[in-house]
Amino acid sequence: MLVALFKDQLVNMLGRITKEEWKEKMKAALLVCPVCQKKVIPKCGNKKVWHFAHSADSNCLAFHEKETEYHLLGKKQLFNWLQMNKRAPILEHYLREIEQRPDIYLPQKNHALEFQCASMNKDILHSRIEGYQSLHIQSDWIFGKRRLKKLSNQFFSIQNRDLTAAKKDPQGRLYLYYFCPLQLQFLVVENIVPVTSSKILGKGISYSLKEIIDLDQLNKKTADYNYVLNQWINQKYIWRKSAFKNKSPASMYLKKILYFHHKSLTLYSPLAGMPTRNFYHFETAAFIWQSYLLYYVERLPGPFSFSQIETEFMRLISKGIFSVRSFPYLKESYTAALQAYLTYLEKEKFIIQIHENLYKKSATAPYPATLDEAFQQDKIFSLKGGFFDFV
Ligand SMILES: [Zn+2]
Repeated sequence: MLVALFKDQLVNMLGRITKEEWKEKMKAALLVCPVCQKKVIPKCGNKKVWHFAHSADSNCLAFHEKETEYHLLGKKQLFNWLQMNKRAPILEHYLREIEQRPDIYLPQKNHALEFQCASMNKDILHSRIEGYQSLHIQSDWIFGKRRLKKLSNQFFSIQNRDLTAAKKDPQGRLYLYYFCPLQLQFLVVENIVPVTSSKILGKGISYSLKEIIDLDQLNKKTADYNYVLNQWINQKYIWRKSAFKNKSPASMYLKKILYFHHKSLTLYSPLAGMPTRNFYHFETAAFIWQSYLLYYVERLPGPFSFSQIETEFMRLISKGIFSVRSFPYLKESYTAALQAYLTYLEKEKFIIQIHENLYKKSATAPYPATLDEAFQQDKIFSLKGGFFDFV
């Protein structure tokens, strides 16, 4: 932590007080944590960013995570940057109503910023975002850039839970913010297309801290998705080749059903596994939940409604067979993914809408006979699908 209380006044470790002065202060009165009121000790060494530390047995509500050097450094830099740009930031401002302490709070804009470096459970991240929302405080999560690994040009490995903090830009495309305190750089990953639970396609754009004055300046570029098309087609092939060893509950469930109908998951229909709009609300891979939806529609004797599909998926989600992601910043949920997939199937003339909210199967879904054939069909369907304009 970078802030403490000294004789009821907030003091901070931003470098204006010398090591000797801190020692003098210690003699004069206690330095305490503004939240739990317990004694804290100024740490003014040569190696680490100067900070305050609770005693080892502390169970402070606001500082339960051990702050790394990387985190302290980044927090300090972000604070200095905001101060330099006259945003009147407040460091480690404690919001008692929700027992949350954003790294930086901007009172002018009622905006909380978190520089997240430690791994945080998805549910905790979700509830912290909701905590801010409950007080009508805007919030943004900026992740430590170390948490992101570039695998190839547009392919990244991320911490799965970080996607929880994704927001949509005005075009409806997902983005995440990262910051590197060593390079003094922001990295915005735009046009995010989650591929697996820990891999995303996206475009990374770096900004030096010096060249921008506000977070709003990030993330204004628009890019098209075409560059990821080939990677997506390749991913469909990877899903096919590895389907036999996929042991997820969803995959096991679907394999059993397909086996019963003399089909294999490897040779799933090229109509499945598509990055249709909002598909990523499912954490279950797209080729699995979409294959299931196809199967479900194929088996229905007559017309069906959207709510029928919705109920079926709700059942499988509640049984833990399919899993969904939570996006507290987004308005829609997985039902939007189901709706968009139906729209795609309609466009591909697999189903037709016969009435408002009533559909009918109108063609047989194609199923490839061999892997080679599957690869060819994946290409054809992905190209004509016109995806990535509307993911
Ligand atoms: Zn404390």
